[in-house]
Amino acid sequence: MNGKGHDTVCRRCGICCEKGGPGLHHEDSPLVENGNIPAKCLYTIRCGELVRDDIRGSLAPLAEEIVKIKGQAGKWTCLFYDRQEHGCRIYDHRPIECRVLNCRDTGPIEQIYDKARLTRRDLLTTVAGLWELVEDHERRCSYAQLGAWVREGTLENDAFKQEEAIFETLRYDAHIRQLAVEKGGLDADLLPFVFGRPLTETIRMFGIDLIKRNGAYGLVRSRVRQGK
Ligand code: SF4
Repeated sequence: MNGKGHDTVCRRCGICCEKGGPGLHHEDSPLVENGNIPAKCLYTIRCGELVRDDIRGSLAPLAEEIVKIKGQAGKWTCLFYDRQEHGCRIYDHRPIECRVLNCRDTGPIEQIYDKARLTRRDLLTTVAGLWELVEDHERRCSYAQLGAWVREGTLENDAFKQEEAIFETLRYDAHIRQLAVEKGGLDADLLPFVFGRPLTETIRMFGIDLIKRNGAYGLVRSRVRQGK
């Protein structure tokens, strides 16, 4: 019990781990560098991606990127959560967000939540050649630019004004991933961390879908806008 009379002992219900893995902070950097949390267990939510603002209840572009632990089995549940044991597989090496989280007193996590976030730059600048690729990808596949093109979309004649520019960006995103794996020898599991999630998936957050019709790709307005 704490001073306010609330029970603060974790009941191992697992709800917080099932809601998603934690974002990492500078303090977590040794966990990645020492391999306690392998980089292939991470993914990046890039600057400009639309994420849910729980206070306003709407989607808002992310101001600074977040490096997070991946989900498992296509769900948000943290990769390290063991459902059968109701426990964390890396408990002794869990990140700071998990160490300070108390679902009955959110004060401590609110204090650190958006501070000193770990970024790809912190982890990748020492890997020869890779950081330059990430910077190039950021320039050519910027979410700010994509969002602006989508907003210009009118769907007149069933086509977006900037459809070709959007396609070109999607093609480049796919190309750089393939190149990094096939020519650069990058482990494919590292792609969501190094380049973020594929644009062919995240483009939905702008309310459009990529579809294949009569053998050709096209963009259509989606009924669902989704972010993380
Ligand atoms: S790292 Fe461990 S404690 Fe943190 S969300 Fe994942 S399973 Fe839960």
